[in-house]
Amino acid sequence: MPAMTLLDVCSKFDSDARCRELLERLRWPEGVRCDCGDLGIARLSHKLFQCRKCRSQFTVTAGTIFHDSHLPLIKWFAAVYLICESRKGMSANQLKRMLGVSYKTAWYLCHRIRAAMQEVNPEPMGGIVEVDETYIGGKKANMHKWKRDQIEGRGSVGKEIVIGLRQRNGTLRFFHVRDIESGTLAKYIKENISAGDVEVIMTDDHASYPKAIEGEPLLGDYRGKHQTVQHTAGEYVRGMVHSNTVENSFSLLKRGIMGTWHKISAKHLSRYLDEMTFRFNRREDADIFEQTLQFMVTADPLTYENLTRAA
Ligand SMILES: [Zn+2]
Repeated sequence: MPAMTLLDVCSKFDSDARCRELLERLRWPEGVRCDCGDLGIARLSHKLFQCRKCRSQFTVTAGTIFHDSHLPLIKWFAAVYLICESRKGMSANQLKRMLGVSYKTAWYLCHRIRAAMQEVNPEPMGGIVEVDETYIGGKKANMHKWKRDQIEGRGSVGKEIVIGLRQRNGTLRFFHVRDIESGTLAKYIKENISAGDVEVIMTDDHASYPKAIEGEPLLGDYRGKHQTVQHTAGEYVRGMVHSNTVENSFSLLKRGIMGTWHKISAKHLSRYLDEMTFRFNRREDADIFEQTLQFMVTADPLTYENLTRAA
């Protein structure tokens, strides 16, 4: 199946009814089902269903990311397409211009699409896995003021730490973390890397890694499977031993933050990280557009109040 173009999306999903047909197929592949579990459903209108058993009325968007939205579905679909197909992401300002909506609508729209871009029960990583950390916000003193302002946004603190795990020839994951103490690193390693399937974990020579990977509290699960490249001694690659793959992913993330999102607050950073890895891990999938809609139509609503609540 060749990848869809924006024109394909706009001509294929040119009405509310046609958007709903796709969402219904993605939400209920085995036929329309009520929340009570019943499949005996009457269609009252092109959007409204009624359960014959419990009598409740519902639509395909009820209780999902689309919940309570007044934005036409054809605009939602165009936004999903644009966000899926932009390697570095898309800013709310750009979406505002492209869709002809207010900034607030575009901002909320981006966040809701992003909120659905979360892996559900991801497979443990194996083979060769690189683990590394990066600082978002960088060294303040080395930056231009405009860049500092762009990255930090209003009211957010200086540097945020992101750890990245990347299986070579496999998936990428980013996590916004409080610190890189060995206990924190150990938690993410245990949650994401299969002790049985991993051949080697490659890191730089930061002092936390040996303790995290080979010491307590993982109690030797990964012992003998850790190799480091001595960055502090100026070494970057020693044969197979390097963390360049995950570092390349960090530069994509940073280009996304600098070039596209402009203002990003610490509070929302983990959602941006989810968006970036979701898209990156599906970059070869021709059906990324439908996959994203499927996540959206099966994810819980994200209310504006929840989104804007202080962290
Ligand atoms: Zn029912």
